[in-house]
Amino acid sequence: MKIMPNRLDKGFFMYQDELEQKALEVLRSGWYILGKEVSSFEEEFASYVGAKYCVGLASGLDALWLAFRILGIGEGDEVIVQANTYIASVMGITINHATPVFVEPDEYYNINTAEIEAKITEKTKAILVVHLYGQASNMDEVVALCEKYHLRLVEDCAQSHGADYNGRMTGTFGDIGCFSFYPSKNLGAFGDAGAIVTDNEEIAKAMKMYRNYGSEKRYYNKVVGANSRLDELQAGLLRVRLKHMEELTKERQKIASTYLECLHNPKLILPKTREHAGHVWHQFVIQCGDREALIQYLDEREIGSIIHYPIPPHLSEAYSYLGYERGSFPVTEKYADTVLSIPMYNGMTREEQDYVISCLNAF
Ligand SMILES: *Cc1c(COP(=O)(O)O)cnc(C)c1O
Repeated sequence: MKIMPNRLDKGFFMYQDELEQKALEVLRSGWYILGKEVSSFEEEFASYVGAKYCVGLASGLDALWLAFRILGIGEGDEVIVQANTYIASVMGITINHATPVFVEPDEYYNINTAEIEAKITEKTKAILVVHLYGQASNMDEVVALCEKYHLRLVEDCAQSHGADYNGRMTGTFGDIGCFSFYPSKNLGAFGDAGAIVTDNEEIAKAMKMYRNYGSEKRYYNKVVGANSRLDELQAGLLRVRLKHMEELTKERQKIASTYLECLHNPKLILPKTREHAGHVWHQFVIQCGDREALIQYLDEREIGSIIHYPIPPHLSEAYSYLGYERGSFPVTEKYADTVLSIPMYNGMTREEQDYVISCLNAF
């Protein structure tokens, strides 16, 4: 049995008729940018997460860098972020010429809130919290620190669509929640797409201006913005998928609980779940001290796996200018050396899950 780490085709065929119908509807409408699909999606997604406003954008990275741009965070400012995140989180900060200040992750792979306070300086302007792999971060602590030090709070929810903390959806705790709808995300488009959510009307208005060359009124440009518009086709297809989000999330949670119940190889460390924190299982991440051997063993059995992420941002070539070296963030580096994501996708059959489980248990 050949099992890929992810199967985007299955996610399409699940709702093939509805998706094809919507695609044709948009294609035949003659309206492709900033129309009723985008505004309907914005309303529906805002309501799904429990925010007042949603603004559709072209990608998750755009959501992040535009968020900091609009909050006025730039040169000379510091933003606290976890060191083990996907590099796009950090780029959202540095595109604005602000400085990322890294904090080690906790045992749930999210920011270790006990280590944040020591990193706060006069220059700290914001915390960027990333709900990595789909599990909500410790938001009680993060929100308390933002209040105590008057910091802005931005959430990177690119992996946490539908994950809550104490009943409140990720993306709604701070000033701006940033989402990606890259095809492999839990809510995925069929191309690049992203959005922000916020309760602040001014921020929503500014974001709509920035995504469209800095203009509110056509050809009257107030700021140097971007071309970062969610298109009608993606918005329409996202609306179809959003209607099914609850069942899609439940399916991932069921696969995860099967893994957690049935995997029992002492060589593997299974993911831990935090009390009060929802987990939507964007990835099912295990740790293995002998990862190279495990990857090869799985390869031989035609089971795909992916490392999220092999090189932490502080050690990547792109950020060599920050001057970090190996040893700067030992917890992050240990995760980078030992984590492995095993197959997890909507449409994964029980037979496929059982094959992965029996192979992993026999390793
Ligand atoms: C995918 C992802 C992004 C970037 O989203 P794009 O739509 O690919 O630009 C940012 N942060 C995290 C944590 C991600 O997983």
